[in-house]
Amino acid sequence: MIYEEIMYGIKCDRCHEIYDNCDGATVSSEKYGMEEEALENDWYEENGKHYCPNCYTRDEDDEDKIIVKPMIHYSFFKFSSFVNQLTGCHHRFSQDDTHFILRNNYCYKRMDNTRLSILREIISDFVIEYKQPEKGCQGRPYEQEIIRIPKDFKHP
Ligand SMILES: [Zn+2]
Repeated sequence: MIYEEIMYGIKCDRCHEIYDNCDGATVSSEKYGMEEEALENDWYEENGKHYCPNCYTRDEDDEDKIIVKPMIHYSFFKFSSFVNQLTGCHHRFSQDDTHFILRNNYCYKRMDNTRLSILREIISDFVIEYKQPEKGCQGRPYEQEIIRIPKDFKHP
């Protein structure tokens, strides 16, 4: 028998990262189930919005005071959804002080120039890098695909 069930998950309002728990689950049939877990695992909720640990900092003088990082321009999300569409692979989001980073650890096919030029129309100044995995692997060879986008990226 096929049945339908509504599931609930938690997505970061700033970077769109989806919370997954230690079992790798991202959704629960309990409406507030994932929210509770996320908040126990360093996610932050404010006015009904949720932020992953990457997207807020604590005030240097007052540890209890949480500061959400500045919002990200929507071009970035357009770019990242194109990256996923063009490669057929979900790229994980992270960031350092200067860059947003999209990473796919199992890349079987490098992006060709046609795809890269489509991406450059959305954000022009990203850098793409391929790294060999550290351990040798059996089966089809894969690489790590890492795309770095400056936080002050240029967009039309
Ligand atoms: Zn986030």
